[in-house]
Amino acid sequence: MDRFKDKTVVVTGAGRGIGQGVAEAFAAEGAKVAVLSRNEQSCGQSAAAINEKYPGAAKPYAVDVSDYDAIQECGKEIVSDLGSVNILVNNAGITRDGLLLRMSEEDWDAVLGTNLKGAFNTLKAFQRTLMKSSDARIINISSVIGLIGNAGQANYAASKAGLIGFTKSVARELAPRQVTCNAIAPGFVRTDMTDVLGEKVQEDILKMIPLREMGEVEEIAHLALYIASSEARYITGQVIAIDGGMTM
Ligand code: NAP
Repeated sequence: MDRFKDKTVVVTGAGRGIGQGVAEAFAAEGAKVAVLSRNEQSCGQSAAAINEKYPGAAKPYAVDVSDYDAIQECGKEIVSDLGSVNILVNNAGITRDGLLLRMSEEDWDAVLGTNLKGAFNTLKAFQRTLMKSSDARIINISSVIGLIGNAGQANYAASKAGLIGFTKSVARELAPRQVTCNAIAPGFVRTDMTDVLGEKVQEDILKMIPLREMGEVEEIAHLALYIASSEARYITGQVIAIDGGMTM
């Protein structure tokens, strides 16, 4: 129950979906959790829901991870509020799908700016405090789409594949300090992001999944807990797919 009781965890994109599930899972294990999301309402509601179950565990911070200066300021505030940070989960992500012919420069920049640059921006904000911790963990939420690509998602696939290169480089750089950095590559998980897909698209997706089911937020959260645990100290630079067998 208290596996992370002395730890402070930062989870970006924790206003809902996978990020909220990950934040709640750490709170359930005794951690203090900074719940970050783009808008005040979603991170406030998410932190309140977590605090209802685990009083005092979560604190909301509204910040856009694609804004370098804003996340640096937010990082200082978090360290001053919660103390040094031990675990960073870069989860904030968006989609702006469209076939290449119709994809605008703005769609490209928005997705790369949040999904890839956002992870860099956030790691920069917490790099010093993470390096001071003897067993820090960085977990980047990539996607199977970053491994296999997808028509209509060139921007999203590039951002998620970029996160994999980022993960491996950071893992190599920080290994001498016993900091691990890994990526989780979920397949299709039931959240707002996948709820917007039409019924036909969802049916086609299920056909591509050997286990014939979408994943659940809690399943991604359990994997994040494991990667962050002391049992996983020897795992770094890996991309762990959790996808019902899609990419086997
Ligand atoms: P979601 O339900 O759409 O939630 C996304 C969260 O990210 C929201 O809390 C949102 O904030 C936040 N966010 C978006 N842009 C942000 C920004 N610029 N700055 C700060 N926060 C931002 O998404 P999800 O399905 O949980 O996905 C979470 C992560 O898993 C994403 O990186 C996604 O690419 C990845 N993933 C998801 C799936 C899936 O099937 N769901 C599969 C593979 C990978 P607001 O609430 O304030 O809008």
